[in-house]
Amino acid sequence: MLRHRFRSLLGLAAGATVIVLGMTVARAQSSNASAPSPFDEIATRLTQTGLRELGAYTVLEKILAGGPRQTGSPQADAAVRAMADYMKSLGFENVHTEPTTVGHWVRGTHEEGAILSASEGRVPVKVRAIGNSIATPAAGISGAVIEVHSVAELETIGDKARGRIVFFNGAMDPSLLDTFGAYGGAAAQRSGGAVAAAKAGAIAAVVRSLTLETDDDPHTGMMSYDAATPKIPAVTITTSAANRLSTLLKKEPGLRFRFVTSCRTLDPVVSSNVMGDLRGTTNPEEVIVIGGHLDSWDLSAGAHDDGAGCAQSIEAVRLLRALGIRPKRTIRAVLYMDEENGGAGGLDYVKAPARKVERHIAAIESDRGGFVPLGIGVGAKGDTFDRIKRWEPVLQRAGLIWIRPGGGGVDIGPLGETGTILMSLVPDSQRYFDVHHSGTDTLDKVNPRELELGATSMAMMAYLLSEEGVGGR
Ligand SMILES: [Zn+2]
Repeated sequence: MLRHRFRSLLGLAAGATVIVLGMTVARAQSSNASAPSPFDEIATRLTQTGLRELGAYTVLEKILAGGPRQTGSPQADAAVRAMADYMKSLGFENVHTEPTTVGHWVRGTHEEGAILSASEGRVPVKVRAIGNSIATPAAGISGAVIEVHSVAELETIGDKARGRIVFFNGAMDPSLLDTFGAYGGAAAQRSGGAVAAAKAGAIAAVVRSLTLETDDDPHTGMMSYDAATPKIPAVTITTSAANRLSTLLKKEPGLRFRFVTSCRTLDPVVSSNVMGDLRGTTNPEEVIVIGGHLDSWDLSAGAHDDGAGCAQSIEAVRLLRALGIRPKRTIRAVLYMDEENGGAGGLDYVKAPARKVERHIAAIESDRGGFVPLGIGVGAKGDTFDRIKRWEPVLQRAGLIWIRPGGGGVDIGPLGETGTILMSLVPDSQRYFDVHHSGTDTLDKVNPRELELGATSMAMMAYLLSEEGVGGR
């Protein structure tokens, strides 16, 4: 996940300081204090079967097998076909793709950068173009550097950026327990830094990678231009390179930076969302979506972002089927295309002709990594929220700890406008931004049991929604 939908998720973060302390208590309450629920046995069987079979990891391996699945790439479409075939092989119903037109930005092969210092000579620096950036001229771009820590700071420095390269060195705030809050606090320099720098008269933007680690892996992501502002190229550099550049600048304010990129924006292409159902028995036209996004950035195959969410969505439906469950309402795994670069898949899902005869009562998105689940954020209020909150003890048997207000996501967001209740699977976030949008978001970073517990949690929540409805509707 990326971009600016952090406001809804901040609600999840607000109570985060009590999570760790609350774990033991919450689990104890579930076993001692709560009245038996007819769903308890199903939750237990889901969890036991999931942990025994670890099917989410099996799906994840298949998703990642073809490498990165960048929006618009042939590899993304190959993954769509592979997942359609896989869902059919598992016996899912109504397996099909739906078209969505997506942007197509490609990195190109030539990327290089360097600090040009009078005292240190030429210091090579890894650079990665930020998604949607224009390229530099073939000979590269070089200039004196002005360091700021945010777009807001840039707006206070008057004319000092004119003719220079703006170096955005805003770090994610390490003091925040919720790393998504830290990411949200620093992400504007990546998504909007180039426009802000161009408005200040700069020739290029160099952006500190958004991660809490000090490492040598650049973390890319999306940026955009606005029609009224000249387009200037933007790259991200690693946190260790950013620290070095900052240190050198203090000693040598006149140093220069040079970089070359060869990225290009090609024509939009028609790609697809892919989905498969466990059809409801009594209200099949009422749908509960469980989803993630199949596209990734190009620097790695996106194991956590968001192969994990796709794998969990398929596994949740597979597990319910494996237990012989026939839900009242339809439970659908949806693998969306293009979360990373515009969200076209989520927008086109709600416009598809098939939606006209369906009513979506709830959607659960998993796009915060495949780490051990803490809870599910629920974007409902009042009686509806209270009713869902009462399912917490059953869901604790399926692997999570809490249900809290606040849910949503880029892919399912458009469904919210049709009255669907939006939910987010919320795993522990401490390691997510170590790998996010970088070359290190690989299969070996995913723990099969942690990943599976996200699937069992979502399966149980979807089943409860199916059988109990959301009330008052
Ligand atoms: Zn994502």
